Amino acid sequence: MNKNTIDMPDVVVKGDGIVSLVFALSLQIALGDNFTILIIRNKEFSKSNIKRNVRTISISLSTVNILRALGLWKTLSSYTQSISKIVISSINRDNINGGYLKFNSNISGEAASYTIEEHIFRDELLKIIGTRKNISFINADVGSVLHKRNTIQMITEDGSIYETKLLVAADGRKSKMRKLFKIKDVGWDYNQASLSAVVEHSKRHDGVAIEKFYSKGPFAILPMKGNRSSIIWTMPKDEIHAYKDFDDLYLKDKIKDYFGRDRGEILRINNIGIFELYFQISRKLVGTRFALIGDAAHTVHPLAGQGLNIGLRDAATLAEKIVDAVRYGFDFGSSSIIEDYEKDRRFDIVSSALAYDSINKFFTNKDKNLYQFGKIGLSVIEKMPWIKNIFVHEASGLNSSGSRLTRGKSL
Ligand SMILES: Cc1cc2nc3c(=O)[nH]c(=O)nc-3n(C[C@H](O)[C@H](O)[C@H](O)COP(=O)(O)OP(=O)(O)OC[C@H]3O[C@@H](n4cnc5c(N)ncnc54)[C@H](O)[C@@H]3O)c2cc1C
Repeated sequence: MNKNTIDMPDVVVKGDGIVSLVFALSLQIALGDNFTILIIRNKEFSKSNIKRNVRTISISLSTVNILRALGLWKTLSSYTQSISKIVISSINRDNINGGYLKFNSNISGEAASYTIEEHIFRDELLKIIGTRKNISFINADVGSVLHKRNTIQMITEDGSIYETKLLVAADGRKSKMRKLFKIKDVGWDYNQASLSAVVEHSKRHDGVAIEKFYSKGPFAILPMKGNRSSIIWTMPKDEIHAYKDFDDLYLKDKIKDYFGRDRGEILRINNIGIFELYFQISRKLVGTRFALIGDAAHTVHPLAGQGLNIGLRDAATLAEKIVDAVRYGFDFGSSSIIEDYEKDRRFDIVSSALAYDSINKFFTNKDKNLYQFGKIGLSVIEKMPWIKNIFVHEASGLNSSGSRLTRGKSL
């Protein structure tokens, strides 16, 4: 596009992560080719993303339902591994196992969660989007925005102008758009970082996911397709630097006690990534003709593997509000529509973020009495299948959003 000509897509989305792509596809599938969507990605960011997309993501049933309703699950499910069982334990500073919990991870006979590699998930979505005429991409930085009567204009740093009814920010935790709209957030640095890696091992994992809570942070093992598991090893931020320039052998030696022997020998370790951890919730999810979704709106501790699942529930709810408004002939970027989105999403976001924050604080506390309390708590819950069923249901995300897509229904 030439400088200063105005392009007018119906919706503009900033950021090209998984939340953005699922949101765009939700609109495209429901509204067809006449509804145009522009995704603005950042050139520099997309390059460094290659390094960031090394994680293996656990996806809950709410996400599976969204993907099913959009007709994407058939393609994506072939890359997933179902989780059959979850084993949680708490380990004290003397390396003594202090109680454990075992869950059968299924709801009505179906696995309650699956794992998928983030880069495969994103690449498959991009392939599908590539076949749709009305979703286009540009690489640009938005320098400023200008509110018009019933639209909003974005002026990019090279002077191009895009005008739309609604601007949606899905540009991650450091969202520039959130800052541009002067929306404040509440948050703190966990002073923890997670090392994620893919471990190839000699024996089967049988779909078992393991989470061991150490006083320095949790060590999670997620089953992946084949004889592979993903580890997410959380520790104090200052300790993780020792692992930045490690070699395979060094890491193998370091993780073998945490990893255990059940999966046989550790053969290889790949896809290593390091992520600093933050808690962050945006004070508002919307502004004038503006909405935040995904990590741009909230960043949660990864111990429960729920950040992306929550973000996709945002995408599903916002898409539903837009689609309904378009069908009734309303202005979908107006405050009444997007404030409805905020109202529907606020509780799930805040309650989930605070729950994971409390679990992290509980297990990383240095108080011996609290540790004993945790040990008794895990053992008591282990004997109460009905409480375990509630946990599995909560983790599925099915109770957290009433949107049609999360219930597996089309828009
Ligand atoms: C160690 C770890 C493990 C995790 N495991 C899980 C899990 O098992 N399950 C789960 O549900 N969640 C998990 N999460 C959380 C999950 O990774 C995030 O919630 C999810 O990636 C957020 O997706 P998003 O699309 O909102 O943001 P991002 O993935 O951060 O993507 C934002 C996109 O915006 C783009 N972008 C960023 N800045 C700009 C800019 N200035 N201009 C343009 N574009 C920009 C980037 O290109 C990026 O693609 C984990 C997180 C961590 C740290």
